[in-house]
Amino acid sequence: MKCVRCLQDTAQKVAVAPDGSGAWEVYYCQRCNFSWRSSEEPEVIDPAKRDPWFQLANVDIENLAELVPVPPLSI
Ligand SMILES: [Zn+2]
Repeated sequence: MKCVRCLQDTAQKVAVAPDGSGAWEVYYCQRCNFSWRSSEEPEVIDPAKRDPWFQLANVDIENLAELVPVPPLSI
């Protein structure tokens, strides 16, 4: 599936709600190491609503000069 941060087809489901309710799923991207839960806010899981500064589309991840910062938590 498509990663919400790097927009490549390199993400996969890695966990589901253990009670079988389907309340949430967790996904992980093997390319940019981003992980997210399906029940997070659209500003986290919707590429169209994510802050473009934190996106990694068309970025050469192998040659990043600095670690990518984590956006501040929204409460
Ligand atoms: Zn990614």
